[in-house]
Amino acid sequence: MMSCHSIRPLLPARAEELTPFEARTRAEHVAACARCAAEAAAYSRLGHALAVMADLEVDPADGTLERILVAIGRRRTGVTDPRVLAAAGSAGALVATVVVARAVRHRRRARRPTRPASWPRRPRLPNLPVPTPALARAK
Ligand SMILES: [Zn+2]
Repeated sequence: MMSCHSIRPLLPARAEELTPFEARTRAEHVAACARCAAEAAAYSRLGHALAVMADLEVDPADGTLERILVAIGRRRTGVTDPRVLAAAGSAGALVATVVVARAVRHRRRARRPTRPASWPRRPRLPNLPVPTPALARAK
């Protein structure tokens, strides 16, 4: 049996990303090694979660772009109010999340085949909480 050290780089890969030899080697090792099996399962859950997120399409609340631009402008002008800085950080995180989600979705759409039929098409998210307008309060 190959060592955990040799198998570890193969653990995050999806099955279609491995050669038949790599897939067989990984399967044999994971069947016999609880630690690597747990790690492989965690990667599998992560991949599933990212695939679900890639299909999320949530429109930002009205005024989100304006608030982000205001936050960027204030950061450049040297705002030190921690509430404003926290709001600007949240806006940056929101933008980063949207960008990553779009990138993942784009990557998935570029691939064939797409998801297994057992994965949810698009989860229903009734009344997602709208990001708190922290900047409005901070003014
Ligand atoms: Zn192992």
